[in-house]
Amino acid sequence: MLHTHTIDRIESRTLKRSFPRSIPRNAKGGHHGQHAQIQVRLVYTNQGAMGWGLSSGPEHETQALVGRRVSELIDPASGVVQEARALDIPLHDLAGRILGQPVWRMLGAAGPRSLPIYAGGIYFDDLEPLESPRGIDALLAACEQDAASGHAHFKLKIGRGFKVMDRTAGDRRDAEVTRAVRKRFPSAKLLVDANDGYDPEGFCRYLDEVLECGLYWVEESFPESAAGLKRLRDKLTAESPATLIADGEARLGPTQVPPGPYGKWPRDQLDGLLNLARDRLLDVLLMDVTAMGFTAWRTIMPELRAAGVAGSPHAWSEPLKTLYAAQLAGGLGNVPIIEGVPGAVEGVDASGYLLQAGMLTLPELPGFGLELAD
Ligand SMILES: [Mg+2]
Repeated sequence: MLHTHTIDRIESRTLKRSFPRSIPRNAKGGHHGQHAQIQVRLVYTNQGAMGWGLSSGPEHETQALVGRRVSELIDPASGVVQEARALDIPLHDLAGRILGQPVWRMLGAAGPRSLPIYAGGIYFDDLEPLESPRGIDALLAACEQDAASGHAHFKLKIGRGFKVMDRTAGDRRDAEVTRAVRKRFPSAKLLVDANDGYDPEGFCRYLDEVLECGLYWVEESFPESAAGLKRLRDKLTAESPATLIADGEARLGPTQVPPGPYGKWPRDQLDGLLNLARDRLLDVLLMDVTAMGFTAWRTIMPELRAAGVAGSPHAWSEPLKTLYAAQLAGGLGNVPIIEGVPGAVEGVDASGYLLQAGMLTLPELPGFGLELAD
């Protein structure tokens, strides 16, 4: 069916994305603000079909695809060809719509349709505003705001002592925040993400302070190294064996330029992560859903399974990326929980997705199931 559709027009649009509140700093610093412009592309065919989604990359590269058959650019069984990767997301949406299938089903429906999700926008809210910080109550209020929208699990940014605060005071505050959120939400899955803002010894001291919190996962505790991760694994095995080690969001080495089969990830960096996973030093890999790519995730998920490691595509800072990650999770399986980016995009109807009690349920709608206003 895809071969009867020829691309006759590709339109770029910018849309306004808003978080429910201004999102402050993490360990690396820099405020995230509340509003941003995002770029999407709409791909139309000569049969009147249209698929759309987040899309970056140079305009002349995408326009060069006008006139091509859809079947030359995407195989529903494997994904988008290299030359059309700038349209990775829009072409998955388009193929799903033409075939009358949700993307998660096109990918194999190997995961559940309802997926555990965490609120990923709890940053250093306690340290805002800079001139008179509101303290931990402000951070708890951010958690409550996300809970009111259907979240039940939280990822806390830590690493205040890396550069935003003095080391000792920052480390102490990280532990206080973790314990305060645990006290307020006794049954939540609690994740922490240090954005590599600790060293292995310092992170193990933080763990000593929050042992009773029963962390669900620890993310980017320090720049990943076999020796550091071995130290962390030994500690968790002894004291908190259920806690997962997640990493692989940040690339420690160079970026792939121009983007290749794994987007911005050079293959050797992925091999390094897979080797750490085979040595049981990592439990979850976090490559970004668009910066590595939707098709790349389809390609590499079997390798993750073979290495005995789960995946959870990084979705910050876009609510749409959460929905793409959820479609991958429902389609490919092997994703224990997805990253929830709170917020909305103007003109996008995402009401087919249901967020309730810490679970996100995928729509039974063609493509990504997202409608775009004219
Ligand atoms: Mg992270």
